[in-house]
Amino acid sequence: MAVKVFFNPASPQEAVRLMYEQPGRGAYLAGGTDLLCSPEWPDFVVNIRGLLATLAQEAGELVIGAAATISRIAAWQALSEADDGLMQSCARGFASEQIRNMATVGGNLASAVPSADFATPLLALEAQCVIQAPEGQRTIPLEGFFAGPHQSVLDRELLLKIRLPLPSAGVRTEFLKIGRNPGDIATINVATLLELECDKIQKARIALGAVAPTPIRAYAAEEFLAGKPASDENIQRAADLAREAVQPISDQRASADYRRQMSMVLTRRALQRCLGRNQ
Ligand SMILES: Cc1cc2nc3c(=O)[nH]c(=O)nc-3n(C[C@H](O)[C@H](O)[C@H](O)COP(=O)(O)OP(=O)(O)OC[C@H]3O[C@@H](n4cnc5c(N)ncnc54)[C@H](O)[C@@H]3O)c2cc1C
Repeated sequence: MAVKVFFNPASPQEAVRLMYEQPGRGAYLAGGTDLLCSPEWPDFVVNIRGLLATLAQEAGELVIGAAATISRIAAWQALSEADDGLMQSCARGFASEQIRNMATVGGNLASAVPSADFATPLLALEAQCVIQAPEGQRTIPLEGFFAGPHQSVLDRELLLKIRLPLPSAGVRTEFLKIGRNPGDIATINVATLLELECDKIQKARIALGAVAPTPIRAYAAEEFLAGKPASDENIQRAADLAREAVQPISDQRASADYRRQMSMVLTRRALQRCLGRNQ
């Protein structure tokens, strides 16, 4: 099988126009690490790799171009200073160096697999997705981006960039992932974020991957922790609530029961690590 037509647009607008106007089934090509492994290749590809790779710090937020590679994100100091190393930690456990040099964060989200590693830290950081449609741009929260396994809200539209509101100074974060081997696709992944005042939790964000049809936030657990002391009992209760939020399936990586139980264990461990308690 082979791609019949390859387009190299000069702008995101042209990329979207091509996607809508060309006959046949098209796909954007970013790093190609998902696309070129898929069993059915599209009739044409629209190369976006050179168009959307900018990393920028703007007033009150960080902006990640959708075609920024995992390696560049891992090396972006302004990001790791702002998010307490959350995205860098995710990048470290992502595939191999060769894949990290090709794969992009936008491709990771647009593939919309429940295990997509960058979905969980970006959910915890309350990312916004800027989308290019033929009629113009729109911005939606990442929480509204995923529609089901391998399905996002994109309809031939292009994910342009991801906007991250700057977290409060002193925010504590953690990313944990279990896979069959180091760098493997996640059997389960968890990202947590805590804002603390003395020993009290002001704000908690908890996101889990590979335990539901889409990456999810554990809202009940987050709400439970807000305003509570950071005690072991409260952390355990939040972890129990995270377990109640998941709807895992059994597959070749793990059983649903294992994923349910590990949702609790990893959430508790990640929250405790945010608090500097090694678990
Ligand atoms: C050996 C190997 C190991 C891997 N390990 C991991 C891992 O540890 N964790 C993990 O999460 N994933 C992993 N993956 C999956 C893959 O590398 C990631 O999902 C990667 O981030 C995809 O990005 P890409 O740029 O290569 O996407 P591509 O393959 O270029 O595109 C993927 C899909 O998204 C669409 N797309 C891409 N960019 C956009 C955009 N900006 N707007 C709209 N649609 C777009 C494409 O049309 C295509 O349908 C692995 C893959 C391989 C082959």
